[in-house]
Amino acid sequence: MSKLRLEGKVAIITGAASGIGEAAAKLFVENGAFVVIADVQDELGNKVAASIGLEKACYKHCDVKDEKQVEETVAFALEKYGTLDIVYSNAGIMGPLPGILDLDLAAFKNTISINALGGAALIKHAGRVMSERKIRGSIVCTASVSATRGGISPVAYTASKHALLGVVRSASRELGSYGIRVNCVSPFGVPTPMAFSTGRQVKFDPMVTERNRAGTGYVKGTHLQAKNIAEAALFLASDESGCISGHDLVVDGGYTVSCDTFP
Ligand code: NAD
Repeated sequence: MSKLRLEGKVAIITGAASGIGEAAAKLFVENGAFVVIADVQDELGNKVAASIGLEKACYKHCDVKDEKQVEETVAFALEKYGTLDIVYSNAGIMGPLPGILDLDLAAFKNTISINALGGAALIKHAGRVMSERKIRGSIVCTASVSATRGGISPVAYTASKHALLGVVRSASRELGSYGIRVNCVSPFGVPTPMAFSTGRQVKFDPMVTERNRAGTGYVKGTHLQAKNIAEAALFLASDESGCISGHDLVVDGGYTVSCDTFP
C-alpha cells in the first residue's frame, strides 16, 4: 500500500483554520492531497495554508451558513485543482450554553445553521459535482458524541449534531448509488478553541480526566488531541475505508460507551 493514502486527491476541509480541521489539513497534505482550507477566519486560514505550503494548500473564505458561499467553494476547488475527491465538513460552533429553560432561540437557529445546515449544503453541492462527474468521492463530517446522546453538551449543540448525523445517514443512502460514501467522525473532549469556549479547561488536565473517567470504558492514558480525530477522518476519506458508508466513527478514548453523565 502506498504510504501516501490520499495521493493526488483533491479535498475541501471546512473549519480548517483551527483545531481539528487544521490538523486534518496538515495530515491530508502529508498524505499527498491538495487541500482547500475553507473557513471564516481569513487571517488564520491563510496562515495555516502558508505553513502547510501553497503548492499543496490554499485558503478560501467560506461561511458555511451561506449556501452560495458553499457552492462557490466547491466551484473554486474544481477550478483550482481540476476535480473534487474528498469533502471534510468540519466547521462548527458550540453555540449557546444555557439549558432549555433559558435558551435563546435565535442563537439556537444560528447553531443549527452552521453545524447542521452548513454540512447539508456542502454534501448537496459536493454530491452534485461528484455524481455528475462520476467521481467515487468520500464525504466526511465531524459530528460529535452529542449526535447520539443528550446531556453531554448544551441543548442547541446536541440538537444540531443529532440533525447532522441524520443528514449523513440519509445522504449515504442516496449517494451510495453514485459510488459516493458519506460518513462521520464523532469526537469527544479534544482541547481546541471551541472546546475551551465552554469554560471546561480543567477537564483537559490529564490528572482530572483520568480521575473523572475512572470506571467507564475510558482507556487509561488516552489524551485525545486534534490529530487523533484527523487520523480517523483520514481513514474515512481514504480508499482504506472503501466499504464503509453511513457510519458514525466515535473517537472518544472509549469513554461514552458506558458513561451516563458528563463528569
Ligand atoms: P475550533 O474552534 O478549533 O474549530 C472550528 C472551526 O470552524 C474554526 O476555525 C471556525 O472559524 C470554523 N467555523 C465556525 N463557524 C464557521 C462558519 N460559519 N463557516 C465556516 N467555518 C466556521 O474547534 P474544533 O474542536 O476543532 O471543532 C471542529 C469540529 O469538531 C466542530 O464541528 C465541532 O463541533 C466538532 N467537535 C469538537 C469536539 C471537541 O472536543 N473539540 C468534540 C466533538 C465535536
